[in-house]
Amino acid sequence: GTELTGARARAWLLAFADRVVADADELTELDRQAGDGDFGWNISSALKRARTGLEESGAQDPAEVFQAVSDAFLASGGTSGPLFGLWFGRLGAGPSAPWSVADLGRAFETATGAVRRLGKAEVGHKTMVDAMAPAAEALTSAETHSWREAVRGAARAARAGADSTSGMIAHRGRASYLGERVQEVLDPGAVSVAWFFEAAEGA
Ligand code: ADP
Ligand code: MG
Ligand code: MG
Repeated sequence: GTELTGARARAWLLAFADRVVADADELTELDRQAGDGDFGWNISSALKRARTGLEESGAQDPAEVFQAVSDAFLASGGTSGPLFGLWFGRLGAGPSAPWSVADLGRAFETATGAVRRLGKAEVGHKTMVDAMAPAAEALTSAETHSWREAVRGAARAARAGADSTSGMIAHRGRASYLGERVQEVLDPGAVSVAWFFEAAEGA
């Protein structure tokens, strides 16, 4: 199938949760260097809750899957909790049916715009937006009808965006208090967004 179904969205999110829970230490280490060291814990506890929510929800379409993940983030701590809660929540407001590539583009564009406004963060500020924005752009400009290929392109864009945060001086979040001293450290929020898109590969 070329559309993103609820079952595939669920498999995607479960693969993302497994990746984050397995590799949370990497994210914690980045946030320890450039923040307060709780990001790995914040995101993995949210995604563990999301995993339980997804098992219990019987979600039928992608929007319901994303909404269950949003609920889990909104119940979690840190600056990242409400921001990811909003991102997934806007995805959760997408169409109640399998998603075409055009639906994916619209949903991620809207969701990323909401995060940018709430966080007052633009590309170059060294935050999760540095991975979200190029991924959304890749989805809206994708020239394929296959959701999997489109998301693969988004994953490459998100990874390049996350990599670009090494070398940036942070303008938002705790890393902004440390300035040049943590310029070379990757932003953990952006890295986790790259992991999110990469997790679709096996779904
Ligand atoms: P806290 O600083 O409250 O401990 P977390 O550790 O939960 O926050 O999350 C840190 C991540 O949140 C950062 O890596 C960055 O990607 C993201 N972030 C922080 N502030 C903002 C913001 N204003 N806009 C967008 N993303 C942000
Ligand atoms: Mg933190
Ligand atoms: Mg904190």
